[in-house]
Amino acid sequence: MKRETEILILGAGASGLMLTALLERDDYLIVDNNPKVGSKILVSGGGKCNITNGNLKAKNYVAEQRFVRNVLKRFDNYDLLEWLQRRGLKPIVRKNHQYFCENSAKELVNLLKKEINPKNILLNCEVKEVKKIERGFEVVTSRGAIFAKKVVLATGGLSFPKLGATSIGYEVAKSFGHKVSTLSAGLVGFTVQPEEFFFKSLSGISTEVKIRVGEKEIDGSLLFTHKGVSGPAVLNASLYWQKGKIAIDFIPSVNLEAVKSSKKNISRVLGLPNRVAKAFLENLDVEDRACRELSRDEWKKIDRLKSYSFAPAGTFGYSKAEVTKGGVVVDEIDASDMMSKKVKNLYFIGEVLDVTGELGGYNFQWAFSSAYVCAKGLNR
Ligand SMILES: Cc1cc2nc3c(=O)[nH]c(=O)nc-3n(C[C@H](O)[C@H](O)[C@H](O)COP(=O)(O)OP(=O)(O)OC[C@H]3O[C@@H](n4cnc5c(N)ncnc54)[C@H](O)[C@@H]3O)c2cc1C
Repeated sequence: MKRETEILILGAGASGLMLTALLERDDYLIVDNNPKVGSKILVSGGGKCNITNGNLKAKNYVAEQRFVRNVLKRFDNYDLLEWLQRRGLKPIVRKNHQYFCENSAKELVNLLKKEINPKNILLNCEVKEVKKIERGFEVVTSRGAIFAKKVVLATGGLSFPKLGATSIGYEVAKSFGHKVSTLSAGLVGFTVQPEEFFFKSLSGISTEVKIRVGEKEIDGSLLFTHKGVSGPAVLNASLYWQKGKIAIDFIPSVNLEAVKSSKKNISRVLGLPNRVAKAFLENLDVEDRACRELSRDEWKKIDRLKSYSFAPAGTFGYSKAEVTKGGVVVDEIDASDMMSKKVKNLYFIGEVLDVTGELGGYNFQWAFSSAYVCAKGLNR
């Protein structure tokens, strides 16, 4: 069957669905390789989807700051919350200004679906190639060719391939001469080298830390896992890590000078979960006894807990990463409508772009803000 449409949206994830919901016209088609729309939204935020954050700044993104600012200001967190509330969704703040669906991420997917003509959704449709033809584009898919005047790449990143992620967005961008910056797994845990294998025995325990990666300092909790370390602070640190060392302050609220004369055992004053304190002391070769009995050499070793520096072996990879760092370089995208500056009528929105948000709802906000800007352009 020959399919033709004015606007073809590739990817029915967060950005594609929002864009489609905002279109004030019916001459579009949205396609996705999954059997249902919004697959990542449904599993996000522990099934409740962390939609956005009350504190929204361009600096919450690893990206070209001016570009991000220009897009966010057109449809920010308050605009998004108001838009959702007007349609009956009342996101609630759970922690650290993070807004979630009240009961289930389905609430958000259903709301977006309601705004879209079901006849214009084509599922189980894998996009393989996008070619420029005289009257627009020919998109090669597993369900035949689709012809469109305008094409929007909303195909996301590489993380969670089991939810349909593919590299198609980057391939199409490159085939049209766009630059794609280095891609890597982001918002992901770190695997460790043999010196830190003792972390694995602490699997399941979390503790508050301060992580230093290059110039960046990140506060939050760290979770020991059977593979290495994870948890919010580590996930955020992964956004800034390339290769090399990171330094973790495992006792950020402890002043070691102030406890040196304590009668208590060292393991009791570190403010760490008991098993963690014991494992670190063993690893540092310090016997667990009264602080005031410890030698200068032992204090020197304990001091390492303030800046425990090590080189992660790597990350848990795309199968566990929440996002892809890097993407289509934004210098070549018009922030006023998300159109390619190289190819007229070709648009990029969401995670496929070189914009990566921190943990806390920033990536959905980016998907929705960039979709809004694109929709405004397409509605004009
Ligand atoms: C487990 C997990 C939890 C997350 N939790 C949060 C959270 O709580 N808050 C937050 O802000 N961010 C979260 N994120 C990140 C967030 O989901 C993404 O940043 C966001 O979905 C990106 O939106 P997008 O539209 O660009 O891409 P996506 O939502 O990934 O949508 C892209 C769509 O394109 C489809 N597609 C890809 N290739 C093809 C192809 N070749 N043919 C056809 N279709 C294709 C995909 O199947 C997908 O449906 C989470 C991510 C994961 C993996």
